[in-house]
Amino acid sequence: MQLTCINCPRGCELTVERNADGTVKVTGHACPRGEAYGIAEMTNPVRMVTGLVRVAGTRRPLPVKTRTAIPKGKIADVTNLLANTTVLPPKRIGDLIVPDACGTGVDVVATANCAV
Ligand code: SF4
Repeated sequence: MQLTCINCPRGCELTVERNADGTVKVTGHACPRGEAYGIAEMTNPVRMVTGLVRVAGTRRPLPVKTRTAIPKGKIADVTNLLANTTVLPPKRIGDLIVPDACGTGVDVVATANCAV
C-alpha cells in the first residue's frame, strides 16, 4: 500500500506491507510518527468526523465533530446519523450531541454555540 503521511507538511511517501508473519513493515518515513501512521492505516484506519445537525426552531445548523477519531468503516454510519439528528437549543461548545455514535464508543460534541 502506498500512502502519503499526513502528520506534517513534509508529506513523506510511505510504502506499507504486511509480512508473512502478520507484522507490518513501513518504509519511506522520516520519523516514528510516519511509521505509526502507516501501521495504523494498514491495521485500523481512523478519522475524525465533522458535520452539521439540525437545531429545532431555526434554519441554522449546529457544527459538530466526533470527540476522537473513529474507524473509517463507521464514517458513513455516523454521517447518516448526524444527517438525521435534531437538537434542542441552547447548546455550547463541547456539549454532548450524540453519545457513543453508532457503537464506536466515541461521542459527538458541539463545536459552536447556539442560542434559543
Ligand atoms: S513521516 Fe514524519 S516527517 Fe514524514 S510526513 Fe510523517 S510526520 Fe512528517
